[in-house]
Amino acid sequence: MAEKLNAVKGMNDILPPESARWEWLEAIVREQMGRFAYRNVRTPILEHTALFVRGIGEVTDIVEKEMYSFEDKLNGEQLTLRPENTASLVRAVTEHSLLYDGGKRLWYMGPMFRHERPQRGRYRQFHQIGAEALGFAGPDVDAELILLATALWKALGLADIRLELNSLGQPAERALHRAELITHFEQHAEQLDEDAKRRLHSNPLRILDTKNPAMKDIVESAPRLMDFLGAESLAHFDGLRAILDANGIAYTINPRLVRGLDYYNLSVFEFVTDRLGAQGTVCAGGRYDDLIVQIGGKPAPAVGWAMGVERVLELVKEQGTQVPLPRPDVYAVVPDAAAMPVALRTLQQLRALGVHAQMHAAGAEGLGSFKSQFKKADASGAAYALVFGADELARGELTLKPLRDRDAAQRSLPLADWASWAGTLQSSAPSETAGRPDVSPPPSQGAPAAADSADGSPSTH
Ligand code: ATP
Ligand code: MG
Repeated sequence: MAEKLNAVKGMNDILPPESARWEWLEAIVREQMGRFAYRNVRTPILEHTALFVRGIGEVTDIVEKEMYSFEDKLNGEQLTLRPENTASLVRAVTEHSLLYDGGKRLWYMGPMFRHERPQRGRYRQFHQIGAEALGFAGPDVDAELILLATALWKALGLADIRLELNSLGQPAERALHRAELITHFEQHAEQLDEDAKRRLHSNPLRILDTKNPAMKDIVESAPRLMDFLGAESLAHFDGLRAILDANGIAYTINPRLVRGLDYYNLSVFEFVTDRLGAQGTVCAGGRYDDLIVQIGGKPAPAVGWAMGVERVLELVKEQGTQVPLPRPDVYAVVPDAAAMPVALRTLQQLRALGVHAQMHAAGAEGLGSFKSQFKKADASGAAYALVFGADELARGELTLKPLRDRDAAQRSLPLADWASWAGTLQSSAPSETAGRPDVSPPPSQGAPAAADSADGSPSTH
């Protein structure tokens, strides 16, 4: 036997029924992006390493130690699996002059790669959904992005997510603060951990983001960037706050909030939950007015956020949110192989009218007994079995047997008139729940076999 191969550490397979949860989230995201008039962008997963390792800018964890970079064996190019999508998106916007006729609102969704220590909520291949507004300078669009994120939390039924805000000001303001910050940390050098010592002269701001409780005191007593902001930066921040206040969006100002990436200025924000342990940041973003120039484009302001899909889905699960599980409307029971051509032709006709139809495919031992086919029909979750028995086919009919409603009677349907009854087979919203704990509890448990679906419509069980 060949050696058994497993997925790469920290990289997950997303399988049914869990994948239903992903599709559910993606559909909600698409709908909300549409409501805010953000348009979808898809960039390659591989980019030139130089896109992420830029000449200017400070050292970040990602560039320093988390990137999957390699040399293309065929042409010697230095390539990197994207650790995030903002740089790629800005590259694409610049490369295709997307801003020639004004600002753009864009969004993306896809896998990102970072060589981290895998743990709950932290993987080496993970997924981000992001929204970016390019070409708009005002705090109004910062606010729009935050409103978009909060609309998503609402549509996903998520509570217990709080918003933290800060302003990183402009580079000149940050430089003043940085000098004082370094002095402060140098005065308490004995309290710095290894990470902080390493960052002291490369990216001291990032020390404020430490997760080390032993450094709490020196971080809290550090000079605050907010105190170094000039009138314009403060006006931008106040403008954002006024819109959030008018929309009833609660937030706290966190002066220690900085971002792991080096290109942010002015507004930065994070959506955080206490329900996911250490990996509590579900969405993070901010303004990055200087990035386009760093990537070689014409100067243009920009702001955006990225959310971690795995963390958001973990929260969905944690809250016990019911997510619809896909199931067929009908399952074809085909007692005799001779009826298979007719059965498959009928299923094709039904599918063309929107019915979700599952065929009964033969196993190694053939089609199996009538009884075992019904067992499979039942397990599929289908609402009906469509029986293609020899007797009824001889009469030009087939039998429709309800599988969920035990009191409902079976009836005969005219095979040739499929268009007249197909519509009655289509169920309403699918029910039952995706995700391990709630899937198909054995009937003997006496628990409700299916909870209400995500939109609150009653289950068909
Ligand atoms: P952290 O401080 O948790 O490492 P980060 O600052 O590196 O986060 P960003 O680069 O801002 O994260 O990415 C935005 C979001 O993507 C994060 O808030 C998080 O939800 C998610 N995310 C980042 N890294 C991972 C990962 N390795 N696994 C799963 N989700 C991640
Ligand atoms: Mg990180």
